[in-house]
Amino acid sequence: SDAVVETDVVIVGAGPAGLFQVFELGLLGIKAHVVDSLPHVGGQCAELYPDKPIYDIPAIPVCSAQELIDRLMEQIKPFEPSFHLGHEVSGLKRLDDQRFELTTSRGQQFVTQTVIIAGGLGAFQPRPLRVKGAEQFNGSLIQYKVKDPERYRDKTVAILGGGDSALDWALELEKIARRVILIHRRKEFRGAQASVDKLMQLCTEGDIEFIPAQMKQVNEEEGRFAGLTVKPLDSDELQQVDCDEVLVFYGLSPNLGPIGEWGLNQQRNQIEVDTETFQTSIPGIFAVGDINTYPGKKKLILSGFHEGALAAFAVDKYLNPDKKQFLQYTTTSPVMHERLGVK
Ligand code: FAD
Repeated sequence: SDAVVETDVVIVGAGPAGLFQVFELGLLGIKAHVVDSLPHVGGQCAELYPDKPIYDIPAIPVCSAQELIDRLMEQIKPFEPSFHLGHEVSGLKRLDDQRFELTTSRGQQFVTQTVIIAGGLGAFQPRPLRVKGAEQFNGSLIQYKVKDPERYRDKTVAILGGGDSALDWALELEKIARRVILIHRRKEFRGAQASVDKLMQLCTEGDIEFIPAQMKQVNEEEGRFAGLTVKPLDSDELQQVDCDEVLVFYGLSPNLGPIGEWGLNQQRNQIEVDTETFQTSIPGIFAVGDINTYPGKKKLILSGFHEGALAAFAVDKYLNPDKKQFLQYTTTSPVMHERLGVK
């Protein structure tokens, strides 16, 4: 793990709320570190609906969700945020000097004056295979991501799922595995058309076997993995699938996870905040975007933007209690122009 990062602000979550939070802090001259459990920025927009058009961003009549994220990244560039991607923030501890120590699942440590939770629905985790027998092999012969493709060389691999990850890995592993069997509960796929076409071609040529079927059971004989049982779509009879390894790509599901254990006042998996400051029940910890709740809360991107603006002022006040705050416009403020790098 890297050296401890000392900073004024750590933003947990790089969705639209976390990204715009960087901007609002930057205008006030405050730099931030941003941590996200996903390997890329953009939260739900990038993960769940990158190509869908959004129509309710002020002054942008329409743009795709990924484009919104790209534009936010462009907008925050002058403030040079540090990103820590692929890190789930797990531990929180208040130090004697009132700062917070945050730790990630990969062992990165932050010591920070304030924390802004922009965690949306929580950290995305791979959706587990939940059939009889699966638990016993989860994490061993049943994997949810490919750490090293070589593991599958000359093996028979069953790939479960019908989205881009399942398709991409089926196509990729076909080159090195002895055999790839794709199991999906429908005949249609949710992935990119080019991948679907390629897959169909390889199925016709016999390089990949596609079984449209429902997963029923993971089999075991004397404690050892013994393949899968599925129910094919076109048949009432169960079918045995022999394989050495299983890869599950059922998508990612959100989960409030470790943040739920930080002792913050919550209401149904959401963090209560004061709407003047967006501070939580713990002074120095703020929450913006989908993860917070207050009377009248609407889970919209534009709500997250507004919340980020007020949270930035509150963080500034928390960091500099004696400083007089006054509102400056980006159009006319020389100091903001300097921070934005515009002449
Ligand atoms: P998110 O986008 O959920 O991002 C939170 C990030 O925090 C995630 O990347 C997550 O990995 C990370 N995270 C959480 N916990 C941790 C942790 N412990 N450690 C590290 N990282 C963590 N809204 C609109 O306004 N207009 C629309 O048209 C619209 N359409 C939508 C369509 C769909 C299909 C969906 C699913 C949502 C739509 N929304 C829309 C809602 C909008 O996407 C959300 O309101 C918005 O993404 C919330 O932003 P956020 O930054 O608060 O959270």
